[in-house]
Amino acid sequence: FGTTEYVGRFAPSPTGPLHFGSLVAAVGSYCLARRIGGRWLLRMEDLDRPRVIPGAADEILRALELCGFEWDGEVLWQSRRDERYRQVLDELRGRGLVFDCGCSRREVLASAPHAGEEGPVYPGTCRAGLPPGRRPRAERLRVPAEAVTFCDLVFGVVEQHLATVVGDFVLRRADGLFAYQLAVVIDDHDCGVSQVVRGADLLGSTPRQIYLHQCLGWQVPDYLHLPLALAADGEKLSKRHGSLPLDVHAAGDWLAAALEFLGQKVPAELKSAPPAELLRWGASFFDVRSIPRCSRRCDPVTIPRE
Ligand code: GLU
Repeated sequence: FGTTEYVGRFAPSPTGPLHFGSLVAAVGSYCLARRIGGRWLLRMEDLDRPRVIPGAADEILRALELCGFEWDGEVLWQSRRDERYRQVLDELRGRGLVFDCGCSRREVLASAPHAGEEGPVYPGTCRAGLPPGRRPRAERLRVPAEAVTFCDLVFGVVEQHLATVVGDFVLRRADGLFAYQLAVVIDDHDCGVSQVVRGADLLGSTPRQIYLHQCLGWQVPDYLHLPLALAADGEKLSKRHGSLPLDVHAAGDWLAAALEFLGQKVPAELKSAPPAELLRWGASFFDVRSIPRCSRRCDPVTIPRE
């Protein structure tokens, strides 16, 4: 393997069972990796302990197996990596890039009543030092005044001014947990991920992650965001909109639906094929140029069977 080896990954959060939206991310990242003979890693994002549902991680793994996915190496569990996250955070601290913040969420919200699409913008209250009488709660990364620009492989050029859209952002939360933005960057780097393929709901987080990679002097991966599957009410599909039924026939239907959702023309004779066969087809014929940009509504319970 050379240094240009393709490494992709799928990183579900065990906050509920696998649903159609996360299956789309699994299918897209898997096919893009296998299509060019790359590796495909699985990471369980069980970082946010209060939101983790007991048993959900095992259920996700079982659903993925039933769909015929095979990942390379061991599953990486974020909950086992606190020491590594602390080490990188300390490195950033040592370089003066991180500061202690004493603000509560309510205070940040109060100072930024018109929250943008990435939530309330941090007003910089503790940037120059904790105000007197304040105790440190969270740790935040200082962001620069310049914009972060990147070219997403589906959505094209994206530009974001971190300072005005998010402000100095949290790397370790007031409850002591490491933030998703930090963990994902460290994990992608440590695992040598060369291309991040995931749902477009994370497009707005990508500039923060790119900036973190740059602060650490790490190679920035390529990013490819997939259109989102929306629920019938137009909201992002989530665990509460239903999970994938765990039987092998349904798994084939779901895979065919996920491939079609990503703009792939699954041959009619394959539509009721076993899951592994559909994935093999995807791994040979998945065409990145056919991925649509627009998010679409799709009721996971009534995805038509042709
Ligand atoms: N764990 C995140 C999710 O399930 C995905 C994170 C990522 O792919 O970077 O939405």
